[in-house]
Amino acid sequence: MDLEQLYRQVIMEHYKRPKNKGLLNNDSYELIHLNNPSCGDEIAVEVLYEDDTIKDIRHDGKGCSICCSSASIMSVMLKDKQVDDAKKIIYEYYEMIKGYPFNDQILNGDILAYQGVTKFPARIKCATLAWKAIEVLLEKHGGDRNNG
Ligand code: ZN
Repeated sequence: MDLEQLYRQVIMEHYKRPKNKGLLNNDSYELIHLNNPSCGDEIAVEVLYEDDTIKDIRHDGKGCSICCSSASIMSVMLKDKQVDDAKKIIYEYYEMIKGYPFNDQILNGDILAYQGVTKFPARIKCATLAWKAIEVLLEKHGGDRNNG
């Protein structure tokens, strides 16, 4: 099996058996909806904090395998992280998706499966939709805290 096949397998595994899927509709969670009209992807992400730690991430929606699987991986990677560390991971992920050098101390494991997306610019929005969603939520969390 070559690396590309292995990566495809990782993506299909998260697509078929997503982690942390399904919203809880709990008021303690903060929720966001985003969509990607160019592919028809729709996603909802919700997050639960304990101080500055991400205690839980849930996601739901419909879309292509790249979009749905990346939401699953995002939830696994960012859960139990400090907000600031999560932001670093998000930044490195965007760098990787754009084909730029990235920090392989921060990004490793299954997430590397998305390196191949660089070759398909039309799919970049699919691969980043769930990450944009959590990014917006995290920015909002920082803002709320600074405001008192
Ligand atoms: Zn898509």
